[in-house]
Amino acid sequence: MNFEKPAEETQGKKQGSFLYQWIAADVASGKHGGQVVTRFPPEPNGYLHIGHAKAVCVDFGLAEQFGGVCHLRMDDTNPEKESDEYAENIQRDIRWLGFDWGEHFYSAADMFDKMYEIAETLIKNGQAYVCGLSQEEWKQYRGVPTEPGKESPTRNTPPEENLALFRRMKAGEFADGTLCLRAKIDMASPNIHFRDPVLYRIMHARHYHTGDKWCVYPMYDFAHPIEDALEGVTHSMCTLEFEVHRPLYNWVVDRMDEMGLLVVRNGIKIRPEQREFSRLNLTYTVMSKRLLLKLVEEKRVNGWDDPRMPTLCGMRRRGYPPTAIRNFCESVGVTKFISTTDFSILEEAVRSELNRTSARRLAVFDPVKLVIDNYPEDGEEFFDAVNNPENEADGKRKVPFSRELYVERADYMKDPPKKFHRLAIGREVRLRYACLFTCTHVVEDADGNVAEIHGTMDMDSRGGTAPDGRAVRGTIHWVSVKHAVRVPVRLYDRLFTVADPLADNPAEFLRFLNPDSATETTALAEPSVMQSAPGEKVQFERTGYFFADPEDSKPGAPVFNRTATLKDSWAKDSSKNQ
Ligand code: ATP
Ligand code: MG
Repeated sequence: MNFEKPAEETQGKKQGSFLYQWIAADVASGKHGGQVVTRFPPEPNGYLHIGHAKAVCVDFGLAEQFGGVCHLRMDDTNPEKESDEYAENIQRDIRWLGFDWGEHFYSAADMFDKMYEIAETLIKNGQAYVCGLSQEEWKQYRGVPTEPGKESPTRNTPPEENLALFRRMKAGEFADGTLCLRAKIDMASPNIHFRDPVLYRIMHARHYHTGDKWCVYPMYDFAHPIEDALEGVTHSMCTLEFEVHRPLYNWVVDRMDEMGLLVVRNGIKIRPEQREFSRLNLTYTVMSKRLLLKLVEEKRVNGWDDPRMPTLCGMRRRGYPPTAIRNFCESVGVTKFISTTDFSILEEAVRSELNRTSARRLAVFDPVKLVIDNYPEDGEEFFDAVNNPENEADGKRKVPFSRELYVERADYMKDPPKKFHRLAIGREVRLRYACLFTCTHVVEDADGNVAEIHGTMDMDSRGGTAPDGRAVRGTIHWVSVKHAVRVPVRLYDRLFTVADPLADNPAEFLRFLNPDSATETTALAEPSVMQSAPGEKVQFERTGYFFADPEDSKPGAPVFNRTATLKDSWAKDSSKNQ
């Protein structure tokens, strides 16, 4: 597997990407009068995922860089799977990412009349014909790239007959799949997409916008260039699989030019052009909308916005900041190489943004009691804790401290190696923000598990600095037992256990679902954690980044989602990282 290396991808970065250079050259040469209009054309048949985010960043980002505009267009030519719910959420997700299409919202469905008209004109010009070959026959006739295909028996039907038949198709006289409209181009072309491609198919399906008005719908290859041309798009960018469709794209644009249908803006006729870039692939997940829908429908996840999903709404709910996603998309760059980006690169972008912006809090996940034997039984005091060392303006808060604290079980070792700088009998450690503490002994339960850790604090080390300047290497976090609050926490992890769940047999990808991708626990936290508002992001020190779930949290009662561990836990564990 190829991993995209951001450091080597400066070529792919905005400034230097081949797409940037393409547009820059057009602007410099005055093509389209220097105007830049791009578009992002999602099909409203699912929720946007991180792959779409890359396309959004490319389309909106480049338009922004050249002072142009980017249209948002619902590419809704396939009624069976499309809905308003999807269309609305797509808009919400793009806004969340931080992009705006202004008044430039379009829908393919609004152009169906025009598309139909263009189809009729092609028929009248002898450039399209109705074909009755079955799917099977159609494939056979089309043939293979190395040999010319075979002409459809109806290829040379006179235009009047085709027109009459096409109108009857539109009137609903024929069943799905019986007839289609094909462009008359070249059955011998080495490009298979040029061999009289289908332009219209019969589909008796209700469209979420046009209802039952239509029972013939345009194919993507026909609809897309028409949409681009009618909107006056100058630079149309899509993923690599459409590269072989480009001659057909240009063919349709040429026909529109002949029909006088290209938009004239600021006195310049706009002829859209298409370029292709490689799609984003990520390890440990799947990105096809069909497979994501399967996960949702089979309830393998809790809906499209499950925090484990690679969807933007899932990432939002997990606590990924939109800035992190944009930074990530920029760092992987735009190229024509097919590659897969490691999930950890996305996580690093998330960590790096959250490190800047998250409030630090103390919380213990696997508690064991620590008793400070030389501290008054009912004593209590408050220490100043820094909210965010990355941002002084976030100030400080008071953290309550008392004789009994919770600390992490893993921070104590019975037989520690020399380099273990945490709790062990005879060793001194810093209790974050509070004091220096030396462990003297432990109390074990009947099974030999540590029940209590005992020791003494240096009474002159309040705040955590040694009075004599002696070095204390380890610092651990803690929570005062009598002040601790209990907060529900959902620990999310990667959705799949293997880097490529589709590698062997794509149909069996569910076998690789990570059974531990969502677990629940309760953390013991300092009291201020209760004030985390829904949607607030915190770093539980030494543990990870967490997000107060916007839906399940209530004011004064947050429920946390783990956004990311503090470090890449998968990099170390080779059994998970095969
Ligand atoms: P899927 O294959 O998941 O159904 P799609 O490509 O059919 O996705 P569209 O709604 O048509 O989904 O995609 C809208 C735009 O996003 C298209 O221009 C498409 O090329 C782009 N896109 C989709 N997936 C990716 C990806 N993984 N990386 C980059 N761009 C993508
Ligand atoms: Mg598509």
